[in-house]
Amino acid sequence: MTFEKLGLSEKVLTAVTQAGYEIPTPIQAQAIPVALKGRDVLGIAQTGTGKTASFVLPMLTLLERGRARARMPRSLILEPTRELAAQVVTEFETLGAEHKLTVALLIGGVSFDEQVRKLDRGADVLIATPGRLLDHFQRGKLLLTGVEIFVIDEADRMLDMGFIPDMERISKLIPPQRQTLFFSATMPAEIKRLADNFLNNPERIEATRPSSTVDTIEQLLCYAPSDPKQKRAALREIMADQKVKNAIVFCNRKRDVAILHRSLVKHGLNAEAIHGDLHQTQRTATLEGFRNGDVTYLIASDVAARGLDIPDVSHIFNYDVPVHSEDYVHRIGRTGRAGRKGCAVTLVTSHEMRAISAIEKLVRKDIDWLGDPPSAKSRDDKPRSRASRRDSSGGRGGRRERSKENSAKPNNRKQASSQHNAAAAEAPQQSKTRTRRDKSARKAGKPGGKTVGLGDHVPDFLKRPAKPQS
Ligand code: AMP
Repeated sequence: MTFEKLGLSEKVLTAVTQAGYEIPTPIQAQAIPVALKGRDVLGIAQTGTGKTASFVLPMLTLLERGRARARMPRSLILEPTRELAAQVVTEFETLGAEHKLTVALLIGGVSFDEQVRKLDRGADVLIATPGRLLDHFQRGKLLLTGVEIFVIDEADRMLDMGFIPDMERISKLIPPQRQTLFFSATMPAEIKRLADNFLNNPERIEATRPSSTVDTIEQLLCYAPSDPKQKRAALREIMADQKVKNAIVFCNRKRDVAILHRSLVKHGLNAEAIHGDLHQTQRTATLEGFRNGDVTYLIASDVAARGLDIPDVSHIFNYDVPVHSEDYVHRIGRTGRAGRKGCAVTLVTSHEMRAISAIEKLVRKDIDWLGDPPSAKSRDDKPRSRASRRDSSGGRGGRRERSKENSAKPNNRKQASSQHNAAAAEAPQQSKTRTRRDKSARKAGKPGGKTVGLGDHVPDFLKRPAKPQS
């Protein structure tokens, strides 16, 4: 398949060649001809598949006819985060180099004035986050009745960020005869309902299976102690063991982004932090520094880093296992982009094992351990997850069996020094836990701490006298 065969205009084809794109990616090959026919598209694709160009290229072709009017944009692209919105503007600038289209970026965290000036002059393309778009609308600076093409990007992220009511409001402000291009990496029920409401007889296009992870990414899990100081030390050791060119380190909480950032800088690493509480100018400068190689480690929260297109990230480190499995897919999708190789290492504490099982189910593969997985003993200090119970009962060829397989291989990663240290650091805590448990067991008259039957606890319903059946 070539770009020439997709039906794009001459101007667009020239810009595509200048951008160095030689062959369309699968989502582009499927979505572009459908979008050019004016049909609605339901695209299931994650970032890194070339999905942005799959809507930017047909839009450029379609917008060649007609011109913008003041305060009445002709097309609207909704993005969940400011960074993503800014990134789509860049893609428009690259691929629209041959066009004289006006692009307005409406995002929060920056002044309204410049945005209003752009709207007044007339924008062909509006790229916006939902909140700021509605702010402009409420101030009477914007009419959406001229929108012919409506793009919703990263819909599942919009859901995570609570933007569904805003999106529904926005959709009602746009004429129903518009063309809608709707993209999501995953299709939970709420997104499906939204797509059914927003789209008119769409062509469903699935570039990769839902929530799949790109094959060029090596994925690894690594057991880490729960103690924050020891966990940070474990992370530094893993980082030192890997050949890191540049990396994004994800934390679940903004607070931990800040703490980890300070700690890594203190240990001499070239790191910057990015999260939603930072001022937009600071976020932009940090990202720019990371893109151009001035910053080696970007410590990030999910919101700030979602969908970022930084073409050459060698590693992703998940300092925490993401709470939502879908976030795992998005996080690791920051590496291995456009066919490059990447590596994603996830630190796992004993109480995060359940989340790992959910992730493995979502990505439909067992992820290898860098070193030993938490042993059954080390997991005894926490309530055991269903996954671990399955493992110990010999379930689906559990994690311990996989670990044994790993250890049989020569040059096994098990040798990683970080792992031994991390496990050793956790050890004193485990023995304390076990001692406490043995003492209470002895008190209860159960030698060796083995519980027989229901132990001391007999549920109330069993103590009730049995009623004879009539
Ligand atoms: P996206 O999935 O839209 O975030 O795109 C990921 C990266 O792939 C971006 O850096 C694009 O510039 C690049 N890209 C998109 N389409 C192509 C293509 N057909 N050939 C090569 N690179 C591409």
